[in-house]
Amino acid sequence: MTERSAQSDPFDLVVFGGTGDLAHRKLLPALYHREPIGQLGEDARIIAVSRRPLSDEEYREWAHNAVCEHVAEVDPKALDRFLARIQYVSVDVAQNTGWEALEQKLAGREDVTRAFYLSVSPDFFGPICSALGEHNLVTDRSRVTIEKPIGKNGKSAHEVNETIGSVFKEHQIFRIDHYLGKETVQNLMALRFANVLFEPLWNAAHIDHVQITVAETLGVESRAGYYDTAGALRDMVQNHLLQLLCLVAMEPPESMAPDSVRDEKLKVLKALRPMSAEMVERNTVRGQYRAGASSGGAVKGYLDELGRNDSTTETFVAAKVDIENWRWANVPFYLRTGKRLASRLSEITIQFKDLPHSIFLPDAGRIAANKLVIRLQPDEGVKMQVMIKDPGPGSMRLREVPLDMTFAEAFNVRHPDAYERLIMDMIRGNQTLFMRRDEVEAAWFWIDPILEHWSHLKEAPKPYTSGTWGPSASIALIERDGRTWHDETH
Ligand code: NAD
Repeated sequence: MTERSAQSDPFDLVVFGGTGDLAHRKLLPALYHREPIGQLGEDARIIAVSRRPLSDEEYREWAHNAVCEHVAEVDPKALDRFLARIQYVSVDVAQNTGWEALEQKLAGREDVTRAFYLSVSPDFFGPICSALGEHNLVTDRSRVTIEKPIGKNGKSAHEVNETIGSVFKEHQIFRIDHYLGKETVQNLMALRFANVLFEPLWNAAHIDHVQITVAETLGVESRAGYYDTAGALRDMVQNHLLQLLCLVAMEPPESMAPDSVRDEKLKVLKALRPMSAEMVERNTVRGQYRAGASSGGAVKGYLDELGRNDSTTETFVAAKVDIENWRWANVPFYLRTGKRLASRLSEITIQFKDLPHSIFLPDAGRIAANKLVIRLQPDEGVKMQVMIKDPGPGSMRLREVPLDMTFAEAFNVRHPDAYERLIMDMIRGNQTLFMRRDEVEAAWFWIDPILEHWSHLKEAPKPYTSGTWGPSASIALIERDGRTWHDETH
């Protein structure tokens, strides 16, 4: 099956942090992928900006390596066309120098879409936006994309939003959460709102609980310095897990228009039951990995990777979350994320309720409640666990089988990386998959009390061995409600 994509209007995409890790691993490969299918119009330019002085040629060589390293099949002709679009400008944001060179590069192109992508330390978001304003580089057709993290708490997120908002209007600001660009996340919306089957069942009358797991096998490694100032709650829950929760829990939006979808997500965030100190104690678990085995090899513990033994930063979080509205009353959402876990797995499990009454004899076997498993990685797909009759003659025996939609197999199509979709949406000006300011601030509003309470705890995060599913307290969190984490059945 071939990819279908309309050609973009002319644009200048200015990537701050053009020599960074994200640009190398994600942004340049994602942009390259849009080249062979003709989505990048003839007049589209990519202008990489970074501190280092580099010529266009030197940067193109770096970009060439990035594409060849991270793209499975590279078409040499398309790569040449792609590299020819790229230019490089050196700007030192900390020293506030080099802006004139960027001005010159952009001069005379005020009528084309001008997209700034800030793939730099969040400390630079404010200074870059201010400098863009001072140098009159922000046109009516400009937009800006910012990477996570947006702030370290509600107050700092508000400050970041204020600074960016003083230069760009809200419709020009694209706050990226790359989970929203994932194919399966889009499919969650298709499943819910393009089928008549699920929506009537999507509520407290039929759903027992929901689980959202985002498990990594990697540790923090060279990012330990940054990670230690963040932790799993800020790095993963505040953004990715809460966004997934919103898409599962939101009411049907009026349309796919950006504000229709974002209004509904905001309502969910506002309906999250605030965590009192006592609830934080009871309904959250924080953990930190110790040495163990991961991906077949021995690995160090977090403190060894960090080179300090006094850190209480969590590398694992589990939480039981309540949404206080009619649809979800008494349906807990169990969230869990961590590093150095047993496998790399991101999935949402919708656990339906048990049958109200069984007509089958006991020897028909156990009737498992239906379960919808939406897997984000690896092997994106959706599985619906249903009961069938075990085939063959003899007495009625029941068996649980998955109705399996593993998309790669079903459609034989390459799954675009989330960044491909998100960058092109940003260039087209479609904000549906980006977070609005009030969403980010509402998410922090719910997270802040948890951070606050944890900051007063004498007790360190619960240790867990690398290569396991986290501290045993996480298992206890769900099992005390008579439920289990879905991984037990893998
Ligand atoms: P990085 O440290 O690899 O790159 C930072 C970039 O900023 C480099 O190009 C560097 O030259 C540039 N830079 C540093 N100081 C500068 C200055 N004074 N003036 C101009 N440019 C300067 O960082 P990264 O991993 O690419 O991350 C970039 C952003 O993306 C960060 O906000 C990060 O939180 C976010 N992010 C990264 C990842 C990832 O996988 N790398 C994932 C999610 C979010």
